[in-house]
Amino acid sequence: MSTTPRASHRARAEATCLHASVGSLTRYGEPAKYQGGLYRIADNTYAWLVPNGSWGETNLGLIDCRGTSVMIDTGWDLRCTREMLNACQDITDRSPIDQVINTHADGDHCWGNQLFRDRHIIATHACIHQMHHMQPRALSALYHGSLILRHVNVAGIDQFGHYMHEMFRPYDFSGIRITSPDHGFSVSKTLCINGVDIVITEVGPGHTDGDAVVHVPARRVAYAGDILFVGVTPVMWSGPIEKLVAGLEFLQTLDVDIIVPGHGPLATQADVQHVLDYWHFVHEAMAQRFKQGMGPTQAARDVIFSPAFQQAPWAQWDSPERLVTSAHTLYRHWGAPAFNLPGKLGQMNLLRQQAMLAFELPHATPRVMRHP
Ligand SMILES: [Zn+2]
Repeated sequence: MSTTPRASHRARAEATCLHASVGSLTRYGEPAKYQGGLYRIADNTYAWLVPNGSWGETNLGLIDCRGTSVMIDTGWDLRCTREMLNACQDITDRSPIDQVINTHADGDHCWGNQLFRDRHIIATHACIHQMHHMQPRALSALYHGSLILRHVNVAGIDQFGHYMHEMFRPYDFSGIRITSPDHGFSVSKTLCINGVDIVITEVGPGHTDGDAVVHVPARRVAYAGDILFVGVTPVMWSGPIEKLVAGLEFLQTLDVDIIVPGHGPLATQADVQHVLDYWHFVHEAMAQRFKQGMGPTQAARDVIFSPAFQQAPWAQWDSPERLVTSAHTLYRHWGAPAFNLPGKLGQMNLLRQQAMLAFELPHATPRVMRHP
């Protein structure tokens, strides 16, 4: 099911910005492509948008169920979570937040959980299992260490140091204690709160191990988490791609006017189709190169520099270099021999390769990630 372009425009027009965030620049100093802040997207239903949807510029949600509210995701650090909470204080004064839903385990969607440690926090079992894999202390150490790495002019380590330093610069990971959800589920779970149904559906693994989508049928709204990015290159840490695609196709079956993506402006079904088109293109282009015996990093580079990619809409999306990570995930599921180091070292190695690629892409944004 998909909406017509006319319906998309109408849905966007119906969202009202209640509390605009200050300034015209993003956390990375980019001109904001859309107004950030708190939006009413349906009756008593809200989205907190952070332009332009780059690293940690994460959208959050709030569903007011008359007397009690449910929050969707928390920010990468306490400061950006509090910024959202301050903006919706009028709402939470009358309907305090009693429950939080985490759509997945990436830090930028759950590292504000400790502000809700006395409330119920809900996520898929797979999400809860993955939540402790990355520690805030490790990112703090990497942020400080990257100052030194920036001067190591070998094997792209200087570019990696620059990339990581700029990625973490807007955030403060000190004092963050990962706070696990106290309620796990598999497949699906429906919360019925004062007559409002909130349907949470597990669609992972795909973006991460435990992705979930939140749907409020009566309000014709869904919160997609990070299976949906708009205007920003999506990334597939976990895969398989078939499951990620199935999650997006599930989104298409929902009868909604507005979808809040994990990153980027408010979306409609047309945006879901754009992301599906990206994954279909990537799947086919990578499979071709896999069959030719090309390694995943080389294949990602080859695809990005191909005329077909450069002429496609996603050439303009933020952070195209993320294709390196998605390529390695695809190859892993295809049973390719290990092209990467295991565990966290491997993740760092992929980010090093992403950084090197970002430096070669003259138009890649955010610009600060590639300019030393
Ligand atoms: Zn994510």
